[in-house]
Amino acid sequence: MDNNLNNNNNNINFDPMTGQPINNVNFDPMTGLPVNNGNIQQPTGIVNQQEPVVQNTPVQQMNGVVQESVVPKKNNTIFIVIAVLVVVAIVVGILLLGGKKDKANVNNTEINNNQTNNNESNNTENNIETNVGNSSDLVEKEYTGDKQNLYVATVGHVDHGKTTLTSALTKLYGKYVSSDVISSSPEVKKEGVVYNASFLEYESNSNHYSHYDMPSNADIIKSLLSGSVRLDGAILVVSATDGPMAQTREHLRVLKNVGVSKIVVYMSKCDMIDDQDLLNLVEMEIRDLINEYGFDGDNTPVVRGSALKALEGDKNEVENIRKLVNMMDKWLIKNNDNSGKAVASTKLGVEVYVLTKEEGGRHTPFFAGYRPVVSNGSEKESASITLPEGVEMVMPGDYIDMTVTLDKAMTFKKGDYFKFMEGGIITAVGVVNSIIE
Ligand code: GDP
Ligand code: MG
Repeated sequence: MDNNLNNNNNNINFDPMTGQPINNVNFDPMTGLPVNNGNIQQPTGIVNQQEPVVQNTPVQQMNGVVQESVVPKKNNTIFIVIAVLVVVAIVVGILLLGGKKDKANVNNTEINNNQTNNNESNNTENNIETNVGNSSDLVEKEYTGDKQNLYVATVGHVDHGKTTLTSALTKLYGKYVSSDVISSSPEVKKEGVVYNASFLEYESNSNHYSHYDMPSNADIIKSLLSGSVRLDGAILVVSATDGPMAQTREHLRVLKNVGVSKIVVYMSKCDMIDDQDLLNLVEMEIRDLINEYGFDGDNTPVVRGSALKALEGDKNEVENIRKLVNMMDKWLIKNNDNSGKAVASTKLGVEVYVLTKEEGGRHTPFFAGYRPVVSNGSEKESASITLPEGVEMVMPGDYIDMTVTLDKAMTFKKGDYFKFMEGGIITAVGVVNSIIE
């Protein structure tokens, strides 16, 4: 049904996120009113959330003209078209929401298939629940059992097989959740940012795993850089067909900055490559890359497999998933946040994610002269920034490293989280990756 709505041949298209019609008429996400994008004037500099963004819209023009009789025929037609579109949008929104709920309900009753469940953990049924597909600000559940609990996430380039692997892990070591359900991750708001994530649990003989799978690159970056998701380790998924890609690099960089010291690699989609030499080459490339980002590329476990085949019950591939979990048990460790003592500092190397206006952040980019207030939860101080060479402008939605110079010293250590504030709103979230002074 979704597809029909999104790909219809009429002139009306619908935004899959909001269910609102797009193209001919755009709607402001805050007010729900139609906007004329071309005419929106945003002041540069300080962003005021209350600022009206619907100036110059047909509706406002009509409201300005008080007497109905004075409204020209043309405007009347526009008004009727808009009204119809709004009604259609609401109906579509309700339909989409309803569909999602049904899906979640169906999947919540999904049965744990004990036949495929590893006999490693017979107690999983009682302990393990999943929290996917539900609307929720409670994405994760605290583990109260006796095993070591590790927070992990599947990271890696889009479409490389993160969600398929996650599903296979639940099937073999937890309560099975299908890729479709995992992909319908609920929205979470935490630490000032909004992102989507599914939270799943599974356990081996020695460890319990609290696992995040996120639908997009931005979700991974935002949740990690804000400190909303705090990981002990990660499973880097790299497709054997593509090898490392742009997002593979970005995720390694962010993992390093948030203090994750060990990762395991799952080389996915190996069913699509017959050539052993090629597979060896891809593995070498992966090891080089993780060395480059400061991980132990020579000793990091790299497991080759096909999560898709494992889900289908292929014996060898099930075995490869078991190998991966075995490696996770042996190689991953608790992130004990041992990144040094906090000291009074005035100059920091940081990596930040800049919130978009939809996330409550700035409507406009900022430049080298930007002066945010830096807040670490207990202290606040004004600061100036130095952008990396060759970067002049930072857009909402960007993530980037930079140097922050504080007007007065604040107490920081490597790995600490902070926010940029501006007139009471959060404009960026980030983590300290070095204390310079
Ligand atoms: P994600 O974006 O990283 O979460 O990737 P998905 O898990 O959604 O997988 C993207 C596509 O690749 C889907 O069509 C999967 O069915 C497919 N896929 C995932 N793993 C494998 C695999 O091991 N072998 C093959 N042939 N396809 C796979
Ligand atoms: Mg996915």
